[in-house]
Amino acid sequence: MKSKIFILIIVIISLLCIYLFSSSKDKTLIGNQTSHQLMPLVQKETTSPPKKIILLIGDGMGINHTTIGRFHLGGPNFNMGVDRMPIHGMVTNHSFNSLYIDSAASATAWATGTRTINGFIGVDHKKRNVTNITELLATHDYISGLVATSSLTHATPAAHYAHVDSRYKEEEIASQLMTSDIRIALGGGQEFFNLEENENATIILNPEQLEDKVLGSQRIIGLFAQDGIKRSVGPTQLAMSKSALSFLEKNSECGKYFLMSEGSQIDWASHDNDLPAMLVELADFNDTVNYMLDFASARDDVLVIVSSDHETGGLTLLDQEKDYVISKWNTDSHSLNQVAIYAYGPGASQFAGKVDQTEIFAKIADLADKTSCSID
Ligand SMILES: [Zn+2]
Repeated sequence: MKSKIFILIIVIISLLCIYLFSSSKDKTLIGNQTSHQLMPLVQKETTSPPKKIILLIGDGMGINHTTIGRFHLGGPNFNMGVDRMPIHGMVTNHSFNSLYIDSAASATAWATGTRTINGFIGVDHKKRNVTNITELLATHDYISGLVATSSLTHATPAAHYAHVDSRYKEEEIASQLMTSDIRIALGGGQEFFNLEENENATIILNPEQLEDKVLGSQRIIGLFAQDGIKRSVGPTQLAMSKSALSFLEKNSECGKYFLMSEGSQIDWASHDNDLPAMLVELADFNDTVNYMLDFASARDDVLVIVSSDHETGGLTLLDQEKDYVISKWNTDSHSLNQVAIYAYGPGASQFAGKVDQTEIFAKIADLADKTSCSID
C-alpha cells in the first residue's frame, strides 16, 4: 500500500513538473535604442541585373523571432535589418511528403528548385542529383562563397555544394565541399574533414589567420570549431561574412559572385527553448543583414535576399508586463509556421507576395547576369 502511495506521489510530482515546464514563459526586457537606428532603404530603379547576389538565412527564424528581436534590441519602433528592406514576401515551405520541413529539404528547395524528402541534400525524392544555384551561377562566371555558424557540412551550407541522400553523411559532404567550386567557405566542422587532403584549398583553423589568407589565397576553407562555432570563442557570423565578402570582391574576375551566409544557431537556441541565447544569435544575424544592406545601398548591382528555412520553437509573443515582453515556446522542434522573405536591390520585386521556397532558385537564376565576361 505504502509503495502505491509513493508511486502516486511520484506521478503527481512528475505531471506537475511537466505542466510547469510546458507552461513556462519568458520575460524579455524591451530595448530603447531608436536614437541611433538605421533607416529603411528605398528601392532604386534599375534594369541591369545583379552582379553580386547575397543570400542571408536565419535558420529557424520565424516572424515572431524577428518581432521579439525588434522589441528587445530597440523597442517597437526600432528597425531590424529586415525592416529596412523595401520588398517583403511570405514563403511556403513544406517538404516532398510532409508539411514538416527540415533544414536539408528546405535548403535543397531554394538552392536547387526541387521539393525533396526531409534529410536529403541536393537530390530529388528519387535520390537523383539536381543542379544547385552555385553550380548554375558558375556557368555565368559567378564565383561563390559560404558562411555558417554551424559546421560547413550542416544542411543549409551543404545544399549549396553537395548531393547526398542523408544530411548525416557529414564526412561524405565534407569531401564534396573540397572538390566543389566553392571558393571560400567559413564556419565550423573540423571533425568531418580530412585535413591531410587539402591540395586544392588553403585550410585555416584559426580566425586570426583570416586577414592575410583572405587577401592572398585562391581558395579558402576556414574551419574554426570541431562542429558548430562556440559563441564564447567565435568568430561571429558578421566577422566571417565580412571576410567572405572582401575575398569575393577581390577574387571575382568578372565582378560577379554569390554569397550565402547563415545564422545557423538561431535554430539551435530555439530547439533548446533558450530565448536569451536565441536573441544573441539573432543580434549577430541582424548585424550581418545591416552590414550587407549598407554595402548594397552604396552600389546599384547588389541584390540582398534574407529568408529562413522554417520556424523553430513555435514562439508566441503573448503580452507586455511593464518593461517586459512575455513569450512562450510551444515546441522544441520545427513548427509549421510560415516564414518570410525580404529583398533589396536589382530584381528585388521578384520576391514580393507569396513565394514558394522552390521558386527562389529560378528567380535568382532568371535575374543573374548572363553576359559573358571577357578577361584580358
Ligand atoms: Zn532545426
